[in-house]
Amino acid sequence: MPVPQPILDALTDVAMPRLPAEPAAGEFLDIGGFRLPVHRADALVIGSGAAGLRAAVELKRRGVEAMIATQSAWGGTSACSGSDKQTLHTANTADHGDDFRSLAAAISAGGAMDAGAAYVEAVGSPRALATLQFLGLPLPLDRYGGALRYQTDHDEVGRATSCGPRTSRLMVQALAREALRLDIPIFNHTAAVRLLIGDGRAQGALAINPRRRTHDNPLGFVVFLSRALVLAAGGPGELYRDSVYPRGCFGALGLALEAGVEAVNLTESQFGIGTAREGFPWNLSGTYAQAMPYVFSRDAEGREFNFLADYYRTTQELASNTFRKGYQWPFHAARMLDFQSSLFDLAVIRERQAGRRVFLNFLRNPEPVESPFSLDALDADVRRYIDRAGALLATPIERLTKMNPLSIELYKRYKRDITHEPLEFAVNNQHMNGGLAVGIWGQTSLDGCYAVGEAAGTHGVTRPGGAALNAGQVFATRAAEHIAARPESAAPDAGLVEPSLAAVLATLNAESRIDAATLREEVQARMSDHAGVFCASDAVASALAQARALNQKIGRDGVAFKGATGALRALQWRHMALASEAVLTALDAYIARGGGSRGARAVLDIRGENAPEARALSLAAYRFRRERLRDRAEQLMVRSDGDGFAIRTRPLRSLDAEDKPSFERDWPKYLTGAIYSD
Ligand SMILES: Cc1cc2nc3c(=O)[nH]c(=O)nc-3n(C[C@H](O)[C@H](O)[C@H](O)COP(=O)(O)OP(=O)(O)OC[C@H]3O[C@@H](n4cnc5c(N)ncnc54)[C@H](O)[C@@H]3O)c2cc1C
Repeated sequence: MPVPQPILDALTDVAMPRLPAEPAAGEFLDIGGFRLPVHRADALVIGSGAAGLRAAVELKRRGVEAMIATQSAWGGTSACSGSDKQTLHTANTADHGDDFRSLAAAISAGGAMDAGAAYVEAVGSPRALATLQFLGLPLPLDRYGGALRYQTDHDEVGRATSCGPRTSRLMVQALAREALRLDIPIFNHTAAVRLLIGDGRAQGALAINPRRRTHDNPLGFVVFLSRALVLAAGGPGELYRDSVYPRGCFGALGLALEAGVEAVNLTESQFGIGTAREGFPWNLSGTYAQAMPYVFSRDAEGREFNFLADYYRTTQELASNTFRKGYQWPFHAARMLDFQSSLFDLAVIRERQAGRRVFLNFLRNPEPVESPFSLDALDADVRRYIDRAGALLATPIERLTKMNPLSIELYKRYKRDITHEPLEFAVNNQHMNGGLAVGIWGQTSLDGCYAVGEAAGTHGVTRPGGAALNAGQVFATRAAEHIAARPESAAPDAGLVEPSLAAVLATLNAESRIDAATLREEVQARMSDHAGVFCASDAVASALAQARALNQKIGRDGVAFKGATGALRALQWRHMALASEAVLTALDAYIARGGGSRGARAVLDIRGENAPEARALSLAAYRFRRERLRDRAEQLMVRSDGDGFAIRTRPLRSLDAEDKPSFERDWPKYLTGAIYSD
């Protein structure tokens, strides 16, 4: 049934509410010639993506006064990124049947994830979803009220649902409306630059809002004091040059590491095909791949190459694996073997390394390897899917229009008409599965400090597509419950501001030869070139040495800046340099102790057990180590030791399968708040 244009428009152009004026500061601190405005509340939430807004709304509904400080109210990945149909992963209510333990097992199947965290996400998912529906999220239903679902990455039964390409932006819209209805103050253009810590607990943050600069506060500092702190600043998207994150995603990793907060699974990130952020950053998963466009590269002279034909053995294999990029979207080392779908990613990476640009052409079917493309010559699962979708149509653009017209609309909004011209793409960094280590209530290693959304390292090595958005909603709710149940602590100490301000000012040095631009170039190039999909022991070790040297240099010389915006950028890049060293420390330790390829990383090793093969060329240089199963049973923890980063491993926490909840036994634990003690 054709979907009328206004319906497509409403799901594509998602307007955000207008923010009211920020509350005026209730007090000021005069320190070293600066006059700093101060805001106080029970809880400070840093970030206004889907996770931060959820935390703030859940806090306020429990009577906890919350305030949000955010670098960009409608910035970040939730508001600004997506894919063909952005995915939410939840318990299945129909069809395949479900139980929370099997859902938890699926969520943590890649290893390095606590059983408790997986169970929390599983059991919390229907509530997260229902609340969003209650707030107006237009999730598609059948006539009986069942959510419509499909299969996505690392999802064996089809637990994914979606409101289309803008799902997470629609989540932000629904939650933002609720936050404004609840009068939660949102301080926009206000980025936290240092956590305030005293008596071993989080007591707020020092932030910069360049627009609030005054003659006696020229860098626009703002102080937030609170008894609890929720880090919801998203992922460190700026770490990589080749990235599908929107621009300006710095996250809270460097900020929190600097404060001594422990991180986990920093080796684990997702990489996959997408359009670059220089244009319109978007994942090319789902139907973009399932439509089976012609994939080609172009050299500087304008010559075109059907390069996948050098990799796959038959046209059927080439087309079927192009299709599978739809629900096997993230790169996975093992899927390079046996001519599977990650051989596609490897081929794209190599084309780009050879200086050729790579495109999807939706107007042409895949070009032949040995015989012409035919819808009758596809692998059985592929043919079945296309048939069920009613998309056994002549061209990719017809198949895409049939399966997902919104995906075409979306690019049109950004002046890319894929019904007329090919779409350039690359393999990009997309998500950090690791992050700040949290317990089952979202609490970090720092008392009073919680991390939710992509800031938190709740995922294991792999995660089902859509589990990121679900985890953000579930853990934001959990953190709010835990904060509401915390015993009242002493009022935050404004005396913490002075040393924090001094530390920040010590990093800013107008005379330094290091500035934000050089930091950016160096950090991003190092991460993309040596800590991307392919990692080799020597290269990672020397990248780590360079990252360490850079941070030591910053420690000595500071970072140059000009004006308030420049100061903010300098501090954010300082944090990215720290985050980069922490990731490389983890990666280096993992490889040095014999860790193998897993998740989205292939550990290259000439003595490795596996090597991908291609039809017409040698891939011997891509021989890689197999995953070591015992690594699944532990997590790699990273923490600043003042001088650099220290690593430790921690065995996974398991759940007793026999210990099923019992109403009579467990109700008192709920009534007395004993459940929060864990
Ligand atoms: C292209 C793409 C497609 C994706 N598709 C899916 C999908 O289909 N399903 C899925 O589950 N996940 C998907 N993800 C991942 C998912 O979008 C993110 O994990 C999720 O949106 C993160 O939400 P968040 O609230 O934690 O962070 P964000 O939405 O990134 O919000 C972070 C907020 O923090 C603010 N901020 C940052 N630093 C500071 C600071 N220092 N001080 C104050 N504020 C700060 C930002 O301005 C922003 O408001 C995708 C990601 C990308 C890039």
